[in-house]
Amino acid sequence: MEHKEPPIYVTKPHLPDLEKVYPYIQRIWENGVLTNSGPFHQELESKLESTLDISHLRLCNNGTSAIMAALFTANLSGEVITTPYTFAATTHSIKLCGLTPVFADVEGDSFGLCPMAVERAITQQTSAILAVHVYGRPCNVEALKDIAEKYNLKLIYDASHAFGCEYQGRSLLSYGDYSTLSFHATKVFNTFEGGAVVSSNKECADRINLIKNFGISGEDMIPYLGFNGKMNEFSAAIGMLQLDEISLILSKRKQVAEWYDEELIGLEVVSVPKPIDGHVSNYSYYPIIMCGEAEGVRDRVVSFMCDKGVHPRKYFYPLMSNICQYKDLDSALKDRLPVANKLSNNVLCLPIYPSLTRPEVKRVCEALKGALNQK
Ligand SMILES: *Cc1c(COP(=O)(O)O)cnc(C)c1O
Repeated sequence: MEHKEPPIYVTKPHLPDLEKVYPYIQRIWENGVLTNSGPFHQELESKLESTLDISHLRLCNNGTSAIMAALFTANLSGEVITTPYTFAATTHSIKLCGLTPVFADVEGDSFGLCPMAVERAITQQTSAILAVHVYGRPCNVEALKDIAEKYNLKLIYDASHAFGCEYQGRSLLSYGDYSTLSFHATKVFNTFEGGAVVSSNKECADRINLIKNFGISGEDMIPYLGFNGKMNEFSAAIGMLQLDEISLILSKRKQVAEWYDEELIGLEVVSVPKPIDGHVSNYSYYPIIMCGEAEGVRDRVVSFMCDKGVHPRKYFYPLMSNICQYKDLDSALKDRLPVANKLSNNVLCLPIYPSLTRPEVKRVCEALKGALNQK
């Protein structure tokens, strides 16, 4: 009889020891401050700034409201050029802010927006670029900055995957006018739900604070259109505890990625994205791309693996330009997104999280290889 092993899911949220949580909860009860920039909130903001070596970080209640707060604060109109190769939150935020997303294709190596495609998509109505550091890999930040300056556009990065990543000797979050983070349960650093906006200057960060608090600036003044994007004290407390363990979290993820590298070496029908020069990764995801003879078999690979109790994720699929919300918008531009379409149809993210063991990695790879040998 084959022994049925427990399922391996694509991720498993990291949690601090429960005993460590109690004293933090106790402090919240003693303070009686539950939200609106309480003590843990303030402590977490400044600790994140020092840990990540950045300035002007403002906490939010999730990554989506962080994106929306950045879009509102940037005071945009008309069109925002963005990537279709992302999570729904990126594109939906643009639309929810009353702006029109315009898709441009991505690059095959970084998975980020292709600067040439961005430049081609610019019109009189364009007011910003919203790019995504996919899997924490840096976009072509220099070229995007040049384009943003040349056409006087705001440059915003959805850096939901990029917690702790560096590029060219500094935090990846320090590029662009704004970078947004998600601290959702599934991300590298989690506060159950949470997020943040990193602004390039203090004036913008001050405005983020107003926007995420209904646009209220003082007791009798509401000068901006805003919403409730505030992080609560419980999430901020959890964030403090998670931050204590972040180097361990990152080093365990790195170890898992190295095990995969070893297991997958020489597997010709699967391409593992190459490291980018000057990039310090957080190993937030382990994407592989089906190529050669395996091109187009991704969905069959997934169902085979799931039968073996291994649950990888098609991330990002479907492409935002192919879902009903945005399909029509993009019908004329279909031909401009060949790279994104091909990636989306062939990508698979393998399970990666700090507590994943060597034997489990082996099991994932055996399921993958078994799937690929299935003709
Ligand atoms: C997770 C994620 C978001 C949304 O973050 P939430 O905290 O879940 O709102 C946005 N963009 C990308 C690329 C993400 O992966």
